[in-house]
Amino acid sequence: RFDVAIVGAGHAGAQAAVALRQARFAGSIALIGAEPDLPYERPPLSKEYLSGEKPFERILLRPAAFWQERDVALRLGERVVGVDAGAHEVTTEAGARIGYGQLVWATGGSPRRLVCSGHDLAGVHTVRTRADADRMVAELPQVTRAVVIGGGYVGLEAAAVLAKAGKQVTVLEAQDRVLARVAGAPLSRFYEAEHRAHGVDIRLGATVECIEERDGRASGVRLAGGEVLPADMVVVGIGIVPAVEPLLAAGAEGGNGVAVDAFCRTSLPDVFAIGDCALHENRFAAGAAIRLESVQNANDQAAVVARAITGAPAPYDAVPWFWSNQYDLQLKTVGLSIGHDAIVTRGDPPTRSFSLIYLRGGRVIALDCVNATRDYVQGRALVAAGSAPDPARLADPAVPLKELAA
Ligand code: FAD
Repeated sequence: RFDVAIVGAGHAGAQAAVALRQARFAGSIALIGAEPDLPYERPPLSKEYLSGEKPFERILLRPAAFWQERDVALRLGERVVGVDAGAHEVTTEAGARIGYGQLVWATGGSPRRLVCSGHDLAGVHTVRTRADADRMVAELPQVTRAVVIGGGYVGLEAAAVLAKAGKQVTVLEAQDRVLARVAGAPLSRFYEAEHRAHGVDIRLGATVECIEERDGRASGVRLAGGEVLPADMVVVGIGIVPAVEPLLAAGAEGGNGVAVDAFCRTSLPDVFAIGDCALHENRFAAGAAIRLESVQNANDQAAVVARAITGAPAPYDAVPWFWSNQYDLQLKTVGLSIGHDAIVTRGDPPTRSFSLIYLRGGRVIALDCVNATRDYVQGRALVAAGSAPDPARLADPAVPLKELAA
């Protein structure tokens, strides 16, 4: 039995263990993870790890010795399949029973799969784990043409890496613009133009009918309407499904994620949930219940749980932030743009350094800053305070954003 058992050894789970020890928690901690690897950073999987710029050792969240020194029992390669909330016990796939005083559920999600025929052929990839990225890297030398299904951040980042590696890349997006779920139209248009300038064929409003096969491998993607795009590699980036079945089966409330309160408590006694799988009410989404898929959310919710467990509870109220690297473009986002009713463009997109400032009812709710770190740093205060500056001044790059916070 462990005083705290953490299920999922990704960003949120690993950080929960780190934060507990930082808060001088002296009890026993188990960090149970389905993947065989030490906890590592996931964002580089579609960026510097995929491109070969960073080896695996450089994306570890902590060196191996750290976990020993902090007395965190790593149980890697073990998948939890059952939770008995009454008995305070989880069961692994191999049948081991692990007792807990408090349980932290931090399982993230698994990539959403295509439902059409050919979705599971060799040569069809998702990008969620080190193993996924390694499989892609191993095939790359044989790849001339790649089709990326899904124009979200992961798909676009993978497309940028593949294009830089000299592959012919097509991105298929079902909606009428890329990044439709997360950003405003001007940002979508900017990234579509950038990818096209790098030789990537961006197809909008594209519906995939099936993946075609030759000799047991994917050979192309057939679109509704009949066109077939030849491909040696297909990358599917169409979002994730939160990995919450065992917890919901144990009676936790939720659906698209596990429902948690402001302290990351689930409806089950002594069970918390954090990270990508946690459905929480977020002030920056106008109080809507959402899941955030970001390192920020994983780390900040881990901190909330550590405080709750160590008897110094403080509610989750962190300003959301996120980043994406494509080509030489560094996007930094603060706040959540969902529900905006106006967008102010600050700077000139063709210069490749500009910010979009999202407003709702005149108040700043988010910024997307492209190669504009100063706006990102100074804009955070506007989001945190819900400032309502004069749009003309917001749009003027000569006026520092820090002067507009109120
Ligand atoms: P994860 O990191 O997914 O960890 C969950 C772990 O739990 C996994 O190791 C999984 O195997 C394990 N697990 C699942 N079920 C079980 C079970 N039943 N038993 C045991 N273990 C289990 N965020 C950003 O902020 N910026 C970025 O630029 C960015 N880029 C990204 C690029 C890619 C390719 C991906 C995939 C994600 C990116 N993200 C980015 C999102 C970010 O990585 C996630 O938000 C973050 O990893 C969430 O942490 P988590 O601990 O909730 O989930």
